[in-house]
Amino acid sequence: MENNLSDRINNLPVSATLAMAAKTRELKEKGIDIIGLSLGEPDFNTPDFIKKVAKQAIDDNYNSYTPVDGYSDLKKSICNKFLRDNCLKYETNQIVVSTGAKQSIANAVQVLINPGDDVLLVAPYWVSYSAIVMLAEGNPIEVRSDISSDFKITPLQLENSITKKTKLLIINSPNNPSGSVYTEKEFLELSKVLEKYPEIYILSDEIYEHINYGVPHFSFAKIPSMFKRTITVNGLAKAFAMTGWRIGYIGAPAWIAKACTKMQGQITSGANCIAQRATIAALEAPPSKIKYMVDEFKSRRQLIIELLKSINGFKLNEPKGAFYIFPDISEFFGKKIKGKRINNASDFTIYLLEEAHVATVTGDAFGSPKNIRISYAASKEEIKEAIDRIKLSLEF
Ligand code: GLU
Repeated sequence: MENNLSDRINNLPVSATLAMAAKTRELKEKGIDIIGLSLGEPDFNTPDFIKKVAKQAIDDNYNSYTPVDGYSDLKKSICNKFLRDNCLKYETNQIVVSTGAKQSIANAVQVLINPGDDVLLVAPYWVSYSAIVMLAEGNPIEVRSDISSDFKITPLQLENSITKKTKLLIINSPNNPSGSVYTEKEFLELSKVLEKYPEIYILSDEIYEHINYGVPHFSFAKIPSMFKRTITVNGLAKAFAMTGWRIGYIGAPAWIAKACTKMQGQITSGANCIAQRATIAALEAPPSKIKYMVDEFKSRRQLIIELLKSINGFKLNEPKGAFYIFPDISEFFGKKIKGKRINNASDFTIYLLEEAHVATVTGDAFGSPKNIRISYAASKEEIKEAIDRIKLSLEF
């Protein structure tokens, strides 16, 4: 039987970021010189002070199952980190460690969403939010923003999107894919709306917290009226160059944390033991230890902005965090370039892949069909070469 799969999986979209990364790998293996600017993955090595602790953990025979919600000393370190960096006072029973922030988000959605519940996603949003909501049989509802508002939504837009079915709002600052960062004032204004709807929960994805170029990071749960309704998600991948180590965590009301542990206990159990030990070292280090990476991303951001500005048809915002730029390229829609018709952002990314040998991701996957996402978590040489190629491929 060819396809006897469940409707659940048949209806699930493939992750566009991972699909483009796989395509890039496949073409590279065939000997085609592709520059991969599709994946949000730091090109640094994990810092030595973290690797050292992981090596020691292996020698110390950390090899058994861990508590489902994480080692208790790790959870204590996470509480300290939340207090130090975010002024959030969580107890250890409010913390759950998972196999990456993606699992943290999936747990939270699974335990809160019933079939038919609405989940508000601020578009552009990270590709997997909508798929995770669909898996829980919830309805992903887009609250749209675009480049004219620096990809942020207003309190009025939020209010207009709320219905009786709304159960959860997912926010993400710094944002993947736009790089926008909400200020404290902007978050306070959104919280004023939410105060009127006590039945709505908030998932605040703060995975890019440290990749920030100036607007101070503000945790949504820091707003007193929101603390008891907010799940704060964070992880190790981006700030510590630890994407493959797969460690994410939440701080949440204890009843939600308990439910996430129950969910995880039936699916994956505790996260990898060695990675958990290494996470303690990462989180106990002051953020100044990873500043060299943030400084480098900042300088690459300047470079890519300058280079992209010289291409006609690219409309840009200035990302304030994360390592993506999300140009509006709708000016190319309806045009033919080198005999190839560009009708939408997907056509444009395919064109760039085939003609310029540069991998990017279509904005459709992020709920923003006029844009493409370019990751600048790549070396300056690669960025220069990639943008040169893009520019050349578009000269007609
Ligand atoms: N979060 C990264 C990205 O958006 C990694 C890939 C993924 O899990 O989507 O590129």
